[in-house]
Amino acid sequence: MIVYIHVPFCRTRCRYCAFHSTALGRGVNPVSSPLVRDYVDTLLLELAYWGDRFGGKEIQTVFWGGGTPSLLPPRIIGVVLERLARCFKLSSKAEITLEANPESLRSKNLAVEYRAAGVNRLSIGIQTLDETMLRVIGRAHKGSDSLHAAFTAREAGFSNINLDVMWGLPGQGVRQWLQGLKDIVRMEPNHISTYGLTLEPGTDMETACREGRVTLPPERDQSLMFMEGAAFLEAAGYLHYEISNFARMGFQCRHNLGYWEGLNYLGMGPSATSTISGRRWTNPSDQQAWESKLRAGRLDDNAEILNPATRALEMLMLRLRTSRGLRLKAWRKITGHDLLANNKKLVQAMHENGLIRIRNGYLSLTRSGMLVSNTILANLFERAEAALMPAPNPAPVLEGNVAVS
Ligand code: SF4
Repeated sequence: MIVYIHVPFCRTRCRYCAFHSTALGRGVNPVSSPLVRDYVDTLLLELAYWGDRFGGKEIQTVFWGGGTPSLLPPRIIGVVLERLARCFKLSSKAEITLEANPESLRSKNLAVEYRAAGVNRLSIGIQTLDETMLRVIGRAHKGSDSLHAAFTAREAGFSNINLDVMWGLPGQGVRQWLQGLKDIVRMEPNHISTYGLTLEPGTDMETACREGRVTLPPERDQSLMFMEGAAFLEAAGYLHYEISNFARMGFQCRHNLGYWEGLNYLGMGPSATSTISGRRWTNPSDQQAWESKLRAGRLDDNAEILNPATRALEMLMLRLRTSRGLRLKAWRKITGHDLLANNKKLVQAMHENGLIRIRNGYLSLTRSGMLVSNTILANLFERAEAALMPAPNPAPVLEGNVAVS
């Protein structure tokens, strides 16, 4: 089993962000905030609660995400991890990731304390080193903070570091993106996640774009950023192992691989989702509602039951995001269907256009295929869904009082 812990606090809100988090403000000490203290108390309760139910399961990875988990001091991270190890079987080789924002990793001592608390992987949200773009997207840090944070993490002994970067930002050109990537590679991370900016409804960035106050790079440039960025990182020795993720050999994120491979995952904290043994539920986003539901023992009361067809479709969507792809034999075994034979024309067209590859019994997307993955996945999903979930009998048509079916 893998564990996700959601920390729903940030210093300020980034303009493009749709994740669940509350802005604490720049001057506030998180430890003295009653909201943060209540959150930590409730999180410890939730740990004990699930420990009683799933304590026998071994935990392979823990991922502190958010929000900005590095707003929590190492002491608190340590207390939670200790409790986790007491309530569950925490593997001695567990990958324990902490998402950190550059401005909160100021000193070597702090990074050393995170390591001592049990964190063994840092994921630093750099996004871009360009000061103007950082301002436009509303990040709370400067480019120099990012360089300092990556250096500090190394100095403190972290040997597994991810840097998050974004492409398709307002005002970003292809050349500038590639130059930025070169600078990122020079920081020698073990893992790089590259995300294209998406305009989430209701965010400040989406409104600004809709009203013409901010413009994103043209689509052609965005395609070039993805394609040339991926080619550059591969040439620099990073394995392109998932649409948005690149890693040095042996440094793929085990936690995310767990999601893509369909492992059971337990999510704790407001808005966190869990999927265990075919049941899925999501904690309330509101902190008080989360606490009340937890105290009433009702967090998974309305869990969705995932039927075998839904699970198979999720497997299709998740595995095809990875460079390894979908094992065709496994698909046949689970669904009783032959994916290639059932979609002969589509498969042939995608193959001829260089969008997919079929190798050693696996179907996977090429780099060009990853660029248009949304379209390919939607297409395959629709066909697989039609095959696995036949439409229910048409509703009877009523003619007068006579039902005609
Ligand atoms: S730091 Fe991360 S979670 Fe917080 S507002 Fe920015 S993007 Fe969202």
